[in-house]
Amino acid sequence: MNEHPPGRPRADVVRIDHVLIGGRWVSAERGVYPVVDPSTEAIVGYAPHASVQQVAEAVAAAREAFDHGPWPRLSPVERSKLLAKAAAALRAHSEELVELVIAETGAVRPVAISQQIGAAVARLERYAELAQEPLETAFPPRVAVTRQGQVLTAGIAVREPVGVVAAITPFNFPMTNCAGKIGPALACGNTVVVKPAPVDPLAVAEMCRVVASELPPGVLNFVCGPGPEIGEALCSDPRVDMISFTGSTAVGRAIQQQVAPQMKRVLLELGGKSACIVFADADPDAALAGATQGWTFHSGQICIAGTRLLIERAIYPSFVERLVEAAGRLTIGDPRDPATVVGPLVSSAQRDRVEQWIATGLREGARLACGGKRPQHLPKGFFVEPTLLVDVDNSMSVAREEIFGPVLVAIPFDSEEDAIRIANDSPYGLYGYVWTRDMKKALRVARALRTGTVQINGAPPNPEAPFGGFKQSGLGRDGGRYALSAYSELKYIGWTM
Ligand code: NAD
Repeated sequence: MNEHPPGRPRADVVRIDHVLIGGRWVSAERGVYPVVDPSTEAIVGYAPHASVQQVAEAVAAAREAFDHGPWPRLSPVERSKLLAKAAAALRAHSEELVELVIAETGAVRPVAISQQIGAAVARLERYAELAQEPLETAFPPRVAVTRQGQVLTAGIAVREPVGVVAAITPFNFPMTNCAGKIGPALACGNTVVVKPAPVDPLAVAEMCRVVASELPPGVLNFVCGPGPEIGEALCSDPRVDMISFTGSTAVGRAIQQQVAPQMKRVLLELGGKSACIVFADADPDAALAGATQGWTFHSGQICIAGTRLLIERAIYPSFVERLVEAAGRLTIGDPRDPATVVGPLVSSAQRDRVEQWIATGLREGARLACGGKRPQHLPKGFFVEPTLLVDVDNSMSVAREEIFGPVLVAIPFDSEEDAIRIANDSPYGLYGYVWTRDMKKALRVARALRTGTVQINGAPPNPEAPFGGFKQSGLGRDGGRYALSAYSELKYIGWTM
């Protein structure tokens, strides 16, 4: 089993200067780089900066563990037991990760506890169970006509691991996203190299430490660094069979192009610009709460956020007015303060991007209903006020591109057909939200939306449901049992009887 790396997951400065290769934590060859607390701008810790050579070594270790190690050859029950032990070990460590997650991601405390750490543990626990799902499907005997005459044949479809999986993850929910990849990948018998987003990799490193220490060497490897070269090295390595990527559409597209010649399997969970459609007959308070949640939850840094708010024209002025009032009631500030609802953006670069988008929207003719600037009472930290842009036309770039900050664009519509047309007029297709008391209409609209998920009247995400995007929001599906297909190859074995 693996040795532990130096570095503890405390709230004060954490130093993780090792990467995990083949069951051993080894010094990152290029030293460390700082990780910044987005709410204070102080250094919260140091993360390891691996060399490209170390990425190759991590891939070699994963390859060796897949080709010759026990992991893919264990029975589903044995794999399930080890994964359950790993999940239990992470659960036991959960509490001590809270301060670190808040410090490096800027998530407000309840989000850090439940959606970051709690969700990561829940995912690992669930995939420990799903590791026991049947690997084979029997095909009943059938008569086939061959040159030799009639023969009776039968067969089985066998689900087998893909091989070495590179898990490349984004900054917004680092642990949750990573657990959503390593859980199903390991459950299927793959071996994995994890590469987290550079700005907040420390809790992911700690999760990998805890999980890998319950697994045979080389099954779970961890590399990290501040630039794109680590991810690029994983994508170009011919010994990697699959890239499981969550991140921006631009990087996802570049990865797909890069790996196409090698025919690597890809699972791409990409960006979104999801429509939140509010009909005039919706429950106004519930719709307002839902729209506000999509606007400000994790400061808008969530791929599924309903950031294109389509409001039926009859209620457009009053709904906008109520949104502005709601924004005025949201406490922005220290994510550790229980009163805080809106924390910071993850980095100054992310804040710059968001501010540029707001400026672009105003240049394009949108009107600022509220927000648009940094909160004056917070001189430190990467904060942006919840910003509502109104008089937006769906052709404006602020309605077409993902902003990934607390910025909502409000667009009026005149009819059900109009709402569907505007919602579908998007390069993205990740999520959709519908608010109406007319369930028949809600289902008609939901079926018409070209998105991977539609949630009606505030239905929460379902972890057992398929998850993924239409159009430029991605390729493939994970979520619940669906992830087992994503991380498997199917083989048919047929015979004559
Ligand atoms: P990003 O695309 O900038 O980076 C994602 C990961 O890719 C990081 O680990 C990064 O270091 C790595 N990377 C960058 N360039 C690379 C390259 N050339 N080759 C290989 N790897 C490379 O995304 P981000 O800013 O970290 O995250 C925000 C984005 O993630 C948003 O677009 C958001 O919608 C998306 N996201 C999607 C989902 C989903 O499930 N659909 C979930 C969360 C976030």
